[in-house]
Amino acid sequence: MEVKAKVVIALGGNALQEKGTPPTAEAQLKVIEKTAEHLADLSCKGYEMAIVHGNGPQVGRIVLSQEIAARENPQTPAMPFDVCGAMSEGFIGYQIQQKLRDALRNRNRNVPVVTLITQVVVDKNDPAFHNPTKPIGPFYTEEEALELEKDKGYVMREDAGRGWRRVVPSPKPVKITEISAVKRLWDTTIVITSGGGGIPVVENMDGSLTGVAAVIDKDLAAEKLAEDIEADMLLILTDVEKVCINYGKPDQKKVGHMTVREAIRYVEEGHFAAGSMLPKVMAAIAFARTFPGKKAIITSLDKAVDALEGKAGTIVTMA
Ligand code: ADP
Ligand code: MG
Repeated sequence: MEVKAKVVIALGGNALQEKGTPPTAEAQLKVIEKTAEHLADLSCKGYEMAIVHGNGPQVGRIVLSQEIAARENPQTPAMPFDVCGAMSEGFIGYQIQQKLRDALRNRNRNVPVVTLITQVVVDKNDPAFHNPTKPIGPFYTEEEALELEKDKGYVMREDAGRGWRRVVPSPKPVKITEISAVKRLWDTTIVITSGGGGIPVVENMDGSLTGVAAVIDKDLAAEKLAEDIEADMLLILTDVEKVCINYGKPDQKKVGHMTVREAIRYVEEGHFAAGSMLPKVMAAIAFARTFPGKKAIITSLDKAVDALEGKAGTIVTMA
């Protein structure tokens, strides 16, 4: 089959979980089964792909269950945050790997799928370490939150009127440690990599790596990956078909195409919410800037095939 393009796909939370369903592994697998259908369709259209996914709710629950188990039984001590990140990458990757394999088999398409646990180097001096912003895990009352701050040294913040949550730093991805393995696999294999933005690690003086308690934004990690493997396209899949300006206001307008200059202007005008649409637009800008002539697309999962054919989504290009 002719290769149409090499695409890095960033999968949003809705590709893994449905709002209002229980946060069980079984429910997640059902959603992933549907997600895999869309991904398999893309593969059958001749797109080669690497897949990056989010892990916010999942890693939060793993951290919580570790804490509860540690309280109950000294034989089950809590794993540190980076290890919880690795666990989330492992189980989410496993589920995607399983359902995508099934979906490809049903289409008589013989492409192997693997998950690569990925360490992403961040800068020790990234200013994000002094200003944790990424909410993870469950909501707490103010009282519980203050207790956790005192007992565990967590940083707790009020999250959009919904309650209190732990926040961790969200540093920028600097280097994907396993990039040469991804490059070698890329032509023959669908690689699930940098899940949850990858496990954040810092490089020590002697070149060794140490995991840190942080979450790298998966959209920025996907962009880094797309640069490193010189992908033809960056496809960011979320739960809205198009990026909007004046989002949620009476004069809301869907944007079908924006140049890097227009996108930067919209960013400056504050059209994109931090932590949700902003990192997607920033990732799209970075990709289009690095590769003038290539495009980044932001759209919803079910519009992915249409968007790659230019019939849906928000396309970001240099000119
Ligand atoms: P994901 O899990 O896919 O990363 P997020 O919730 O982080 O999803 O980001 C997608 C959300 O961003 C949309 O559901 C929408 O509510 C929100 N959003 C914020 N600003 C905008 C905007 N200007 N246009 C479209 N969606 C926006
Ligand atoms: Mg997000």
